[in-house]
Amino acid sequence: MIPLSAPDVTEEDIAAVSAVLRTPRLSLGPKMEEFEAAVASFIGVPYGIALSSGTAGLDLGLRALGIGEGDEVILPSFTFIGVANAVIGRGARPVFADIDSVTLNLDANSVEQAITSRTRAIILVHTFGYPAELDPILEIARAHGLRVIEDACEALGAEYRGRRAGGCADLGVFGFYPNKPITTGEGGMIVTRNSGLAETIRALRNQGRRPADGWLEHSLPGCNYRISEINCALGVSQMKRIDAILDQRDSLAMRYAEKLRGIAPVTLPPLQATGGRISWFVFVVRLPRAVRDRVWRRLAEQEIQCGRYFPPLHREPLFAPFHDPSRGLPVTDAIAGTTLALPFFNRLTDEQMSEVCLQLDAAIRAA
Ligand SMILES: *Cc1c(COP(=O)(O)O)cnc(C)c1O
Repeated sequence: MIPLSAPDVTEEDIAAVSAVLRTPRLSLGPKMEEFEAAVASFIGVPYGIALSSGTAGLDLGLRALGIGEGDEVILPSFTFIGVANAVIGRGARPVFADIDSVTLNLDANSVEQAITSRTRAIILVHTFGYPAELDPILEIARAHGLRVIEDACEALGAEYRGRRAGGCADLGVFGFYPNKPITTGEGGMIVTRNSGLAETIRALRNQGRRPADGWLEHSLPGCNYRISEINCALGVSQMKRIDAILDQRDSLAMRYAEKLRGIAPVTLPPLQATGGRISWFVFVVRLPRAVRDRVWRRLAEQEIQCGRYFPPLHREPLFAPFHDPSRGLPVTDAIAGTTLALPFFNRLTDEQMSEVCLQLDAAIRAA
């Protein structure tokens, strides 16, 4: 079987995790601080707050920005469901904007058209690791007094005009689920340049306790989104080779592109970001809608796992009621049902990749 994704855990990682288990500190300890410092400095911002997941980061980000009942948050429809779940979890209304047909990232014009008097924030997602066109959207946000959260969960190491994804807006969110380029098993992080937001998020993570509060005084309605020292030890160990991991994923993507060029009906993803760097999270090709599902099923029968990322959220039963159908999302609707994520992970071998391409070719011919 060739899986869609697989974690890359080394003997050093295992030793680092075991070492923590021999200490008396299993939560809120030095490994968490070390992990926060490693990610924050990699992104080039002063603050990192490690959390139990990326979705927890979106939730705490919205809470820290004061988003709640009656507020509108603009986000793409073509994205991971956790983004919209975080918005409705706050009692806020998700307002879906359209995307660019090549980068699959938010389209600034569509964002601007989605703004109403109730709009409070934009969640900008760096889709599949391709850096989103930040400047026009940050400009629109500034003009309308909106906050911006960068969902960089798929984009650790992506760059936009010399700046690292996640470090460019009010808050950036990362996720470390096992299918991401580095993993902590489960985990996430918020990064920010804003010391006040950092302090609030740190408190909210731990039942609202502020450092000055003492353990049993609470000034904020918090929750428990803490991450254990065990997870953070894995994160610290993985971050030590982040540059090598990103390079390795770059070359995997280039090899895929080379091998696939002969297969006519597949549209490749953009291989270069104009003025930036892609952090390869997944390798997503596009197929004619009429054959995509048949190709996916046939590959599954050949034990090649592919992903149909993403079914548009404005067509999901849970989120459709929030969507105003008079606001069309033509690009999202055109892309929907055409994307196929191929097996993609650090340890994908050349033989496995050739097998995927061969079987993909056969599946398209048979479809
Ligand atoms: C992975 C991911 C997240 C976070 O996922 P968790 O499983 O909660 O860590 C958030 N947004 C996007 C776009 C993602 O791909």
